[in-house]
Formats: sequence, C-alpha cells, structure tokens
Amino acid sequence: MEFVSGFRYICGFTILSLPRDHALSTVRVRFAPSPTGYLHVGGLRTALYNYLFARRNKGVFVLRIEDTDRSRYVEGAVENLIRTLRWAGLEFDEGPGKEGGAGPYIQSERIATYRTHVEMLLASGKAYYAFDTPEDLEGMRKKQEKLQVAVRDYRRAMDMPAEEVQRKLAAGTPAVVRMKMPSGETIAFEDIVRGVVEFSSDGLDDQVLLKSDGYPTYHLANVVDDHQMGITHVIRGEEWLPSTPKHLLLYRYFGWEPPRFAHLPLLLNPDRSKLSKRQGDVAVEEYRNKGFFPEALVNFVALLGWNPGDEREIFTLEELEKEFTLDRVGKSGAVFNADKLNWMNTEHLRHKPDAELLELTRPFLAGSGITDVPDSYMLDVIRLLKERVERPGEFVTTGIYFFRDPESYDEQAKKKHWKPETASRVRQVLSAIGDLASFSPGDIESAVRTTATALGIGAGTLIHPLRLTVTGVALGPGLFELMAVLGKETSLRRIEKGLSALG
Ligand code: GLU
Repeated sequence: MEFVSGFRYICGFTILSLPRDHALSTVRVRFAPSPTGYLHVGGLRTALYNYLFARRNKGVFVLRIEDTDRSRYVEGAVENLIRTLRWAGLEFDEGPGKEGGAGPYIQSERIATYRTHVEMLLASGKAYYAFDTPEDLEGMRKKQEKLQVAVRDYRRAMDMPAEEVQRKLAAGTPAVVRMKMPSGETIAFEDIVRGVVEFSSDGLDDQVLLKSDGYPTYHLANVVDDHQMGITHVIRGEEWLPSTPKHLLLYRYFGWEPPRFAHLPLLLNPDRSKLSKRQGDVAVEEYRNKGFFPEALVNFVALLGWNPGDEREIFTLEELEKEFTLDRVGKSGAVFNADKLNWMNTEHLRHKPDAELLELTRPFLAGSGITDVPDSYMLDVIRLLKERVERPGEFVTTGIYFFRDPESYDEQAKKKHWKPETASRVRQVLSAIGDLASFSPGDIESAVRTTATALGIGAGTLIHPLRLTVTGVALGPGLFELMAVLGKETSLRRIEKGLSALG
C-alpha cells in the first residue's frame, strides 16, 4: 500500500483512503472542458460557478482537460482556454501546469488508467467487448427508427463464447467495450439544483466506454477522473443530465461513492431557443476582442441562472465569491440578453479608475493611428466621456473629435441648428472667445453667455452651432469643458473652419 497525497493505490486503481466525512469536508470541484478552440459563454458560466463554489467553501478548483475525442483536437486550444480563464480572473488551484497531486490533468495523458479500469469492468462482468461494424450500427439505427423501439442488437456479443472474443481480439478485429445496463431499474439521485431526478435503466443504451481507437469515451474518463481527483461536487450544464444515470452506474460498478451533482439551467436565446452562434456571439474571446471587461462578462454570466435573492445586479468577482450558493441557482433556462451585458459593461466602466481606463484605451488609440497623446490629455478625455461610452474603444471612436478636426458635419444637427442668421452670431462669439486671456470652462462660458445676452438670444442658440463646428456632431460632453480640453488654438481653428464649411 502506498500513500500519495491522500489517495491510496490498491491493485492499480485509486480509492479515497480518507474517512468519508473528512474527505467530504474539503470541497473539490472541477471545470472539465473539451478543448474545442474557444471558450463558450456557457463554459465560462460553468467554470465560474465551480470557481465560486470552491472559493466560498474554501475548497479546491481543478481544471481538467477532456481531450479524448481525438477527432475534435484543435492545436493551441488548451493554452487559449487557460489564457481566457485567467483573463476572466478564474485562476484554478490544480490543473495543467499546476500539479496538485491528482494529475496529470489532461485526459490524453491518463490513457493507461482508463484501460486499467475497463479491464476491471470486463473482469467483473459489468462490461463486454462488442464487434459491430459501422454498417451494423447503422442497421440498428434504421431498425430502431422503423420499429420505434430500442434496438440493442450489439448485445449479441454478450453471448459470444470467451474464446471467440479472444480470437477476434487477437486477430485485431475492431472492437469497443460497452457497459452492461441493468434492466428494469430506476436510477434516482438528488440533484442540488433540480431535486430528485429519476431515469429508467431501460432507456439507457449500453454505453461505449472504450472506443476502437483505444481511447475512452467521455463517460468513462469523466467518472474515473472525478473519482481519482477526489471531486466532491460535479457542477455542470443541464445538457449532461441524461449522462448522469450512466455515471452513477459506473460509480456503483466500481464500488465508489459518487460525488454530488448540480446541473445548471440551459442558456437560451431571447426567443428561448437554445443559445446558439446564429443569434450572436457565444465565444468569450469574441467579447474580449470587442473590448468587454472581464468583470462585466463574469458579472453577467453569474446572473445567468443564479440570483442574490434581492435586486442587486452589479457584483465584483470578490463579492460573488462571498455570496454565491448553489441553492440560489434556478431550474429554468436563463436568457442571454446582450443588452443587459452592454449595460453591465457600462456600469463596470463607470466604476473603473481613470488611470485603468487610460491603459485600456491606449491600444485603441494605436489601432487608429493616433500617436503622441499625452496621458494628461487622455485623462481629460476619459473624464469627459466616461458617462457617455460603453467600451474603452469608444473613447477613441465616439471621442474622435478630441484627436482630429471634423471632416464633415452631422446633417441632422446642421438642419436643426444652422440657420441663415447663425454664421454672424458664431462670428461674434468667436471674437469674444478669441479675446480670452485664460481659457478655462468658466471663462468660455461667460464669453458665450455675454455674447448671447448682447444678441438678445438664449445661450443654447449659440452652444448648438458652436458644438457642431468644434466636434462635427450634435452630442457630446459639456461644450465649455470640451473646448477647454481642446485648447484655445484648436477651438478657434475649428470654429473658423466650421464657419466656412457651413456657410
Ligand atoms: N468535457 C465535458 C464538456 O465539455 C465535461 C462535462 C462534465 O462536466 O461532466 O463540457
């Protein structure tokens, strides 16, 4: 007997050697994505709930890569996944590159273990070799479709004499290992989210456990790993609910105590269909590239299925770590509302220190070919636009007039605010502004208001056309502050240019 970080190895397989209550006192959860190339927002939610559950319970958050489907292997997918999780702030405690005693954490590096476990099931008569060809399986599928009853012709392999099985295997006949399902049994378990869930074993296929390429299926690898990694709670999407009875049977066949399960509600499009690419972005990386904040995306997905029990909607990750409990996860599907995500992003932007926004905006300036903008100038821009933008990139796009003279003028605004008498009035205010020795917002304001009073008009009659000349657009931050930031020279140049362009 050999002790390795709380696990005991017996006959080549692992069982938890700690007393059960002690083992359960340390929460161990895992996020177990298949590396498909990008992280789905649903995957981010699963990762987040596992992370939060671990943090809240002072447990361990494991990242395990489920890459046994070699046909779906994507180069660089694991690195991208880890990078994306880190971007979101979800640091794992154990996983690839972070050994914790239960590794390796990449399934393709654990193939020998799965083989050993398949051998155990074969030896105890809980699994069997089947030699059906793809054509056989297709035939079964057609027959099933026609007869509308479950067709399990692959079970004929169970009656095959052991010598014949050995002969076929020795001859290299392609074979899979299937799990024997009991008949006429109800498999019930208490899901933390859904309550008692029951399945009839008669509805379950004899699940393939080992494929003909020697790789395990998801079901076998997932159960073996959850057990070997000491996982206490499996928190995953509802789409895995139908797999759970198979997993529970595997736990029973191996003589292991199963973890507790919590199946998270489906994510839905606004039309309540299953969340799909067709109706918007589903990759976390796409939101990242669009300039969404990790805090906002995390906040948003946290509320897809969980609620704090009151009206609050804006949470930081730290706040979620304190508040998250599985008993506040609902059963019904959660609608992915992109408008709400935009709103949350805006809320998080408003809460960010200007200095952080400065850092976040720099790449967008560079991307637009705008160089040599001093930090102090950019901080002024951020201060004035903070309440008006939703993403860092918009400090540059919405606020382009802070960096470039207008090339054109908003047609609607022109129609509304540029009347035949406007030009002479603007000329008057231009000269008042030109005389200013100091160019503070207050100075500019009093010059504009004094001119308006002298002309016998409201200040607004001057402010709108002035804004049009200075920015080219109808809306923006307070004009006096804006002009003060642009400076006297730029403001005067633009007003003159506007006067000749607008006539
Ligand atoms: N590899 C599965 C996935 O891609 C894991 C499902 C589970 O958590 O059991 O989601």
